[in-house]
Amino acid sequence: MSDGISKKRIAVFGSTGSIGTQCLEVIQANPELFEVEILTAHSNDELLVKQALQFSPNAVVIGDETKYQKVKEALSATETKVFAGEDALEEVADFDTYDMMLAGIVGFAGLKPTLKAVEKGKSIGLANKETLVVAGDIVMKKAVENRSPIIPVDSEHSAIFQCLVGEGRNRIEKIVLTASGGPFLGKKPNFLVNVKRDHALQHPNWTMGAKITVDSATLMNKGLEMIEAKWLFNLHPDQIQVVIHPQSVIHSIVQFEDGSMKAQMGLPDMKLPIQYAMAFPTRIKNNFPRFDFKKFSTINFEEPDVKTFRNLSLATDALYKGGNMPCILNAANEIAVWAFLRNRIGFLDITAVVEKAMQNISFIEHPTLEEYFDSDGEARNFAASLIKL
Ligand code: NAD
Ligand code: MG
Repeated sequence: MSDGISKKRIAVFGSTGSIGTQCLEVIQANPELFEVEILTAHSNDELLVKQALQFSPNAVVIGDETKYQKVKEALSATETKVFAGEDALEEVADFDTYDMMLAGIVGFAGLKPTLKAVEKGKSIGLANKETLVVAGDIVMKKAVENRSPIIPVDSEHSAIFQCLVGEGRNRIEKIVLTASGGPFLGKKPNFLVNVKRDHALQHPNWTMGAKITVDSATLMNKGLEMIEAKWLFNLHPDQIQVVIHPQSVIHSIVQFEDGSMKAQMGLPDMKLPIQYAMAFPTRIKNNFPRFDFKKFSTINFEEPDVKTFRNLSLATDALYKGGNMPCILNAANEIAVWAFLRNRIGFLDITAVVEKAMQNISFIEHPTLEEYFDSDGEARNFAASLIKL
């Protein structure tokens, strides 16, 4: 790749988001290694157009069909093809003309296009954890069948992936996912009951999209990551531990059968796992800020408070139960977080909605893909009816 002849052609799904824009920064900094083939955005047409004018992709998709004409006109002097609507995501994911999909769409919406790319045998840089939470068994099976490498972008999973390089068949005893604890670390329900959207959106260490920022505050994000880790690294739930580490400099740890532990460290910056996934197995030199020991004289670990942050227990239940339970958990959580972000429900109500959905939607032990879609729809409707949306 470094000979400058064959650049890796990247399809950036969710290019206007936090992950997507950081992926484009990596591409911009390494034009000899990467080029942009596809960009997709849901509603931010202005940024999508700006990105398309800068990176000259073969195709762009705007999710919101009412914005199609606007995007088409803005790009009329270019070679870029313009598509619109949900189905177009799968259509462009089916293109032969790209090498790697950077899966940066948020939520269940990322599943179908990512699955399409997997079926095409593309490399996947996976940020969209919900894809594996919802249908991890099917996605991983198809990835093996189609020899589609799935390289994690989520910082914890990238850390584990990096720790496993060179370990061949050495068996993992367990993995330890680190969690910052979010903005409400140490708080109790009497405080959380009054928490509002703007407060929950202040994450101490990471700047991310709204949905994952709320998930980090409720600890649902770490629960989703346990499920993601199960599928990525083929683990039993007992092998997955979560520890609170407020400084977010140890990104996660692998413990091998001899008790030896490998951790991956660095400053919290998503560009690092993004570029690692894109250039794997090569590391690219960069000028990102470096770790300074003087600024981190102590680093701490503590047990997560699962009695207060019950989303983590619910996700652990879903992890053990398997079947469509993680899909139900995810769908109800997406609706509840959506409502919380619009000040329709309180912070603790998120957990109540998820819990009720898990109790009420029928359990299926070995769902088909269609059954996953149905469970997602049922759980969304149920959650919406609870919230009276
Ligand atoms: P974001 O909200 O900033 O961006 C989401 C992107 O997805 C946008 O480009 C948006 O246009 C697109 N999108 C949203 N809804 C869509 C829909 N219904 N159909 C098609 N496209 C849609 O989110 P983000 O923070 O970049 O997170 C993206 C994914 O990466 C999430 O799954 C998240 O869990 C994961 N992730 C993010 C971070 C981070 O630092 N931001 C870290 C680890 C993992
Ligand atoms: Mg993470």
